[in-house]
Amino acid sequence: MRERVTEACRILYAHGQEHFYLGHVSAREAPGSDRFWVKPTGMGLGEVKPDDLVLLDLDGQRISGDRPIHHEMPIHAEIYRRRPDVNCVVHTHPFHAAAFAASTADFKMISQDSILFANGFGWYDSAILVVTPEQGRGVAQALGEHRLVVLRNHGIAAVDDTIESATFLAVSFDRSLQLQAMAASLGPIREIAPDEVAAMNEYFGASYGGRVEVTFEYLLRQADARMGRPAAEPPTDRPTGQAGAAPLKPSR
Ligand SMILES: [Zn+2]
Repeated sequence: MRERVTEACRILYAHGQEHFYLGHVSAREAPGSDRFWVKPTGMGLGEVKPDDLVLLDLDGQRISGDRPIHHEMPIHAEIYRRRPDVNCVVHTHPFHAAAFAASTADFKMISQDSILFANGFGWYDSAILVVTPEQGRGVAQALGEHRLVVLRNHGIAAVDDTIESATFLAVSFDRSLQLQAMAASLGPIREIAPDEVAAMNEYFGASYGGRVEVTFEYLLRQADARMGRPAAEPPTDRPTGQAGAAPLKPSR
């Protein structure tokens, strides 16, 4: 599991979420646990290794690991406290999402990436660093039952029951906003009609599990290749549940 956290960090590093050594990913030690492993401070998302991670409890007490921790641990702890269903929290300062967080623009339904957020996201209306439990509770409250919260003039926190999904959401949200900024620079934005948004949301929802895994593994191979690390080979079998893939016919 710690290995998976560092893989998520490498994906985020290689896919537009890097901001110096800032940004952190955490995962519960196990579903239902009140302890979580988290990336330490002083090293970038692209540098962290499994042995570098620190184990904390929800009160911020260190259980294991020697490295110094980021000041923003209450983001993780208070989201885990409020949301038992969440097993992973990604907090990053992605460039395009941070630009959105500093603007008065509305998030537009314009692409397959944006459809992931058709049910909305939270908005934390403060630029102040989240360093106290009270501030962390404010972020968790702003997140509500969503899978992502925007922190004004700051960044995002993406959450879900798996490391793969929280990472996928963080990358997709930033990608959607990059596309929105580019589309707006070309002229008035052409939004996807609400009935098509609903249909795509339903279709993607039905295939989400398989698609997330496939995308995570792809993003990891790309990240490792870009970073000059040995990258895994693409799978030879055809995964199911992938959006755009035809349903597999039973063989007779
Ligand atoms: Zn931050």
